Amino acid sequence: MDDLPTPVLDNHLHLHAEGKGVEAVKEFARAGGTHLLVVNRPSWHIVDSVEDVSAFETTFEVTLDLVDAASAVLPGQAWPVLGVHPALISQLVDHNGWSVDRACELMMEGIDLAGRYVWQGDALALKSGRPHYDVSAAVWDVSNEVIGHAARTAADRACALQLHTEGGDDFDDIATIASDNGLDPRRVVKHFSTGPITGVTPSVIARGEAVRSAVAGAERFLLETDYLDDPGRPGAVLGPKLVPRRSRELAADGHLDALRTAHIETPREVYGIDTEATLTE
Ligand SMILES: [Zn+2]
Repeated sequence: MDDLPTPVLDNHLHLHAEGKGVEAVKEFARAGGTHLLVVNRPSWHIVDSVEDVSAFETTFEVTLDLVDAASAVLPGQAWPVLGVHPALISQLVDHNGWSVDRACELMMEGIDLAGRYVWQGDALALKSGRPHYDVSAAVWDVSNEVIGHAARTAADRACALQLHTEGGDDFDDIATIASDNGLDPRRVVKHFSTGPITGVTPSVIARGEAVRSAVAGAERFLLETDYLDDPGRPGAVLGPKLVPRRSRELAADGHLDALRTAHIETPREVYGIDTEATLTE
């Protein structure tokens, strides 16, 4: 296998102790991957029932253990991204019968807890967002309030914020929420982007068309698989080798600038990480 000219970062993937776990990380590394941002799985997949903030604590601790195991087998490093999946609000309101306000309060407590992990140096960035499916106006408004709270927390902790949102390419309203809360919108990352977007930084899904569109039109971008590592949904998303594979294609086509953008420069601007200095092999 030809050596890739840059480190290779998958900006958003999940690991599951009962899935492939570290085996998935080894596949990523064998394909040429070097660095990972591991996002915690939704809390309602980790604990039986989300009742209070302890559900997030359990979720985060499980994630940190998997990140340590991942770092041990990578030529670079893995970092945790911790937060609250925006679909939790539907779990709490529709399934558990909570009021929207009570759900909002717990989600903000989860963000606060994630912020403490960042403050202690145990996590790199925060994760929040709003539902990607149709919801009531009340749930939508509260979800944007949670994003605002996450942006304020990220600004306080001087870290980046990954967001799970609806699709599309116009995220100027989210840039405004970030700015209003003191966070540079460039440090807000829209996960599962399919090409260039306005307002915030895209993390582009490692499908050929999406990657080509980002290379042609995005000033800064990251690449991701959103690998779920869920044995119950084996074909649901891209496998862990896809970011290295797309990167190899970019290298073969002479897109060295794009590789530097995705794997070195954007990670440095957004997260303050150095993917070259943290390369040990
Ligand atoms: Zn994800």
